[in-house]
Amino acid sequence: MSTTDSKSAQGALPDGLGTHARAFLSRQQLLLIGSQRCEAADGARLQTLDPATGRVITDVPQASAADVDLAVGVAREALTTGPWATLAAAERGRLIWALADAVEVHAEELSQIESLDQGKPVGLARFVDVAMTVAHLRYFAGWPTKIEGSVVPVADTGTLCYTRREPVGVCAAIIPWNFPLLMAAWKLAPALAAGCTVVLKPAEQTPLSALRLGELALEVGLPPGVVNVLTGDGQTGAALVDHAGVDKIAFTGSTAVGREIGAKAGQALKRVTLELGGKSANIILPDADIDAAVKGSYQAIYFNSGQACNAGSRLFVPAERYDEVVSALADTARSARLGPGLDPGTQLGPVVSAEQLARVLAYVESGVAEGAELVIGGEAVLTDSGGYFLAPTLFGTSSDDLKISREEIFGPVLVASPYDSLEEVAARANASEYGLAAGIWTRDLSNAHRLAAMLRAGSVYINRWGSVDPAAPFGGFKASGIGREHGHDGLDAYLETKTVWTAL
Ligand code: NAP
Ligand code: MG
Repeated sequence: MSTTDSKSAQGALPDGLGTHARAFLSRQQLLLIGSQRCEAADGARLQTLDPATGRVITDVPQASAADVDLAVGVAREALTTGPWATLAAAERGRLIWALADAVEVHAEELSQIESLDQGKPVGLARFVDVAMTVAHLRYFAGWPTKIEGSVVPVADTGTLCYTRREPVGVCAAIIPWNFPLLMAAWKLAPALAAGCTVVLKPAEQTPLSALRLGELALEVGLPPGVVNVLTGDGQTGAALVDHAGVDKIAFTGSTAVGREIGAKAGQALKRVTLELGGKSANIILPDADIDAAVKGSYQAIYFNSGQACNAGSRLFVPAERYDEVVSALADTARSARLGPGLDPGTQLGPVVSAEQLARVLAYVESGVAEGAELVIGGEAVLTDSGGYFLAPTLFGTSSDDLKISREEIFGPVLVASPYDSLEEVAARANASEYGLAAGIWTRDLSNAHRLAAMLRAGSVYINRWGSVDPAAPFGGFKASGIGREHGHDGLDAYLETKTVWTAL
């Protein structure tokens, strides 16, 4: 992504945007630090592109270490001395609910902004990203009034010993480009419920919805400094991670960057949660309803153009049903309608950037070079609009050792393999360094639950794929991450426990 200080490369905004999205995109985009909307201290700016055309949508400030320092200071002040520090729990909950309402009121605008900046179909943005953002905020809006300590029955009966659950402090939220608004909500909602303050750093490819969310947070009355938004690149993220005033880092993104952040957090003994990559095994058992399994497995990988951390990117099919399943998947893939996200007829949008398209195509090349069968797809698609399109791609191979069988591709590329027995397929699924999700398609409940217990993955989906709910823990085993988001576990990650001893 190039750095620029002018909007000269900006093209006309595309059709399909409503007046509110247009008005937002026509404004000068600025950082949000406290109540101030400002340029980066050094004036640097980044362009953000429309992945459907490669054209510049607009530019945003590129925050540096100086801006990080300012934002963390403001977040610290809001945590310790501002109205947020002494706000009643019920009032905290009301403000989170108000933010959910504001997102809902602005649903069309936010889904259009997200679709344009990220590339995803606008309907998906509306009914997944925005709808789940609202649900997430509403779920966590209920928590502040239920955060309780306990009285501890210690041996010394002349003592009152109790616990307090306190906010962990200033949180750095660093998020990726695949579900920008939703990932912001996954971090903000539990942080705010716990009483923390946040500096949010969206991905350089998709900065816009986070800026709009930050504005809405101020508009609904969250005290200035509670939510700060710094647009920028990986260096902005690294400066946040390194800042001594950050108490907790909540990161979603690549395993490589997650390892780096985990190491730094370990060194500084900062709290950290990491939601990282995956190579999730989707297993069809011989007795499955094959139509449902094919439909579900297709969505499991091609949803959001394969750019989901829990994508079902590795498909295991019983040897005797392999040809039937692969040809049914290829038939569905052949009819997929690729196009710009803002076109309501689009089923599959572009991948997010030229860089990501090149990365995915390099995987496709390696799959071919290593001898996998390319069943369908595999080539960049030239559409009328230009942009970074790749047709749904399907490989077949019996090998678990190819790069495409082992590594996270993060694009619309499925690798299917035949297998012979339940024990064999469980072992092969578990041989991955990752452990984010797994799927099982069967009519046999006993086999389903035996296999669910065997699989080393943070989420197991039976006769469905990808279910997410704010109340249900989500996160990874092994290299897929540390900690859980959502539900009670997700809230706990933003709280410290203090034990208070009193001599009576
Ligand atoms: P990434 O580098 O991990 O980016 C995730 C976030 O971390 C972005 O906000 C990024 O900023 C920031 N960041 C980058 N380097 C950092 C550093 N050293 N310290 C702190 N923050 C840093 O992911 P990516 O390069 O965009 O994508 C690469 C691959 O990651 C994909 O192909 C895919 O395999 C995987 N990925 C996984 C997920 C997931 O949900 N698990 C999401 C996205 C990508 P900038 O974007 O501004 O550089
Ligand atoms: Mg963009």
